[in-house]
Formats: sequence, C-alpha cells, structure tokens
Amino acid sequence: MSYCEKKFSRRKVIKFIALGTAIPFMNSLIAQAQAVKSSKELMKYRDKPNGEEQCSNCMQFIPGKTPDANGECKVVEGSISPHGWCNSYAKKS
Ligand code: SF4
Repeated sequence: MSYCEKKFSRRKVIKFIALGTAIPFMNSLIAQAQAVKSSKELMKYRDKPNGEEQCSNCMQFIPGKTPDANGECKVVEGSISPHGWCNSYAKKS
C-alpha cells in the first residue's frame, strides 16, 4: 500500500465527509434552540413588578436605551418593561 493510499483511505474520507456535514447541521440546531423564546402568556408576564422582583434586576433582562425604556428578555419574546415581571425571574447576582 502506498503512502497516499494509507493517508487517504476510503474509511478516513467517509469519516471526514460525515463530520463535515454533521458539524454545521449541529451548529444550526444549537443556534435555533438558543433563539427560541417563550410567549408572554406562557411565562405569565405582566408590566408590574412582583414586590422587589422586576425585570430590571433580573439576569435575563437586556436593558433599553434609557433606564425606563423597554428592553428585551433572553427568554421571553417581545418588548419588555424594566418594571415587568414573569415566572422565569432570576435575580441578578
Ligand atoms: S425572565 Fe421574566 S422577569 Fe426576567 S427579564 Fe425576562 S420577562 Fe423579566
């Protein structure tokens, strides 16, 4: 068996092709899973705080341009009030 035949065996080529197609597919699945957000209804979102708990001090909150402007949430879809709250609240540490 020549050096070239050893280096590029059929099995290695098939593995290389399989990995080449599987990795981008897995990356797109992971990106889609990360992009999925829940609806406000499902998370029982409301525009009012729950005592001291509100979106502005939740680790999932992405602030708007000013402290009182609506922002976004990493797990709930739509415009989110900094004074809102939902079932997924997680205090910022
Ligand atoms: S997880 Fe809930 S409480 Fe936290 S920022 Fe998102 S909507 Fe607000």
